[in-house]
Amino acid sequence: MLIKPDGVKRNLIGEIISFYERKNLKIIGIKMLEANIHTVEEHYIEHEGRVYYKDLINYLTEGPIVAMVVQGENAIKAVRKINGCTDPLEADMGSIRGRYALAKQRNLVHSSDSEISAQREVNLWFPEMIV
Ligand code: ADP
Ligand code: MG
Repeated sequence: MLIKPDGVKRNLIGEIISFYERKNLKIIGIKMLEANIHTVEEHYIEHEGRVYYKDLINYLTEGPIVAMVVQGENAIKAVRKINGCTDPLEADMGSIRGRYALAKQRNLVHSSDSEISAQREVNLWFPEMIV
């Protein structure tokens, strides 16, 4: 998962990590970094060509982000549930996006949507990690 630049800027790193930890998920990798534009383009490759794509790339590279590898039973589904759906106004109020975000683009967090994308994204953000 990623804490996007607005999450870091708004001092929500600890708050966001707590959501996962309190759900009994384990943080097995974590780093703060200024994302390289090429890495972000690769990360969001399936969105290339969409109207919001350029803004999305700018957003992810506007400041530091936090990348994390979260482990646990049904971790992919659990993290997406905790994050809430893409549009914060439709997200459950108990989710991170529902509670802290307003806009569809600046929605604080990213998480992998399948095992295949999780594998791809872990390789991309944590090339040194063997999972
Ligand atoms: P999610 O992050 O919930 O998996 P998507 O994969 O659909 O959502 O989109 C990736 C990211 O692109 C979103 O989290 C959001 O930041 C941005 N995004 C998606 N759809 C829109 C949209 N219609 N307008 C602006 N930004 C969008
Ligand atoms: Mg997605």
